[in-house]
Amino acid sequence: MHTLPPIIRRIEYWPVDIPITDPFVVATGTRTIAENVFLRVTLANGAQGYGEAAPFPEVGGETRESCLTALHQLGETVLGRSAASYKEVGRLLSEQALTHPAARCGLETAVIDAYCRASSIPMWQLWGGADVRARKTDITIPITDLDKTVTLARGWHAKGFRLFKMKVGKDVENDIRRLEAVHLALPDISFIGDGNQGFSRQDCLTFAQGVKRFGGKMVLLEQPVVRGDLDSMAAIRRETGIPVAADESVRSLADAQAVVARGAADYINIKIMKTGVAEAVEIASFTKASGLKLMIGGMVETRIAMGCSFSLVLGLGGFEVLDLDTPLLLASDPVTGGYRYEGPHLQPWSDPGLDMAAAPSPNVTTIE
Ligand SMILES: [Mg+2]
Repeated sequence: MHTLPPIIRRIEYWPVDIPITDPFVVATGTRTIAENVFLRVTLANGAQGYGEAAPFPEVGGETRESCLTALHQLGETVLGRSAASYKEVGRLLSEQALTHPAARCGLETAVIDAYCRASSIPMWQLWGGADVRARKTDITIPITDLDKTVTLARGWHAKGFRLFKMKVGKDVENDIRRLEAVHLALPDISFIGDGNQGFSRQDCLTFAQGVKRFGGKMVLLEQPVVRGDLDSMAAIRRETGIPVAADESVRSLADAQAVVARGAADYINIKIMKTGVAEAVEIASFTKASGLKLMIGGMVETRIAMGCSFSLVLGLGGFEVLDLDTPLLLASDPVTGGYRYEGPHLQPWSDPGLDMAAAPSPNVTTIE
């Protein structure tokens, strides 16, 4: 069907605002609206692919404004190149805009999606198709008051969720009380405690002891302390006996190498929005080869970016903890097609690329 070479002919990008149902409060910041950017790449052979940039200023330092500015230049760079050389495109984008990983990720995703559609393969096939089956995600409970915490948890529990990622790290005693209240209401669940760098080493030890005291099942401590404090991450692993996941500590392959060298984590949390897609694949391979475990998550993303992450889960295999829940936290779904949620399960798709579509808004920017 597509006989012309997969040359990138047109890039369109436009801002999207999607309200978040309950304010997304974490130790480092608050979001009430996902202010993201959607992209669409069109190839000379007519194939189209979609991507998404989801900047989270407190984590990556990027804003939507800076994403839009970066995309203009990055778009000019990839125009006229072959989508088949998506790896080289990823490298070029990194060279040009190292500090704009979300913008790079959006464009890279759209190029890869277009390439997969032109090749008539689902995106997970591109990564090897190692583990194609329905998978369960956790659900995130933001930092909020005790009553609201329990109400949210009960709502998700009724929909089948059993792994609760609790945002913590602002007030350790209050964090323990919130987890205890959820545990008492729903004794069959497990917790991930995500500190988003908000704890001191001692706070985190106090938190872990507090949860142990009331009998809560804590399966993972995610990024308890500031990203560069790898010594405390290693100490927390040793002293609590609970696995630790490095999230903000790993924003590049070099970061992942440092975490491994210092024995700072049991899991590395892969996020395409931190590194772009190609480097995320490299970090995942390195993590597995180093004997650490893989987790995957995202910023506040729709099913476009999260579908790309799910393609890595299905294609690369080896991901033990999925934190791919943010489309469920949004008030609406602006995307059609692609993977589906059934309670906590993500159901794979079988059509080419991400198999998704979204209509450009009137304030679209077009580069061709
Ligand atoms: Mg995290």
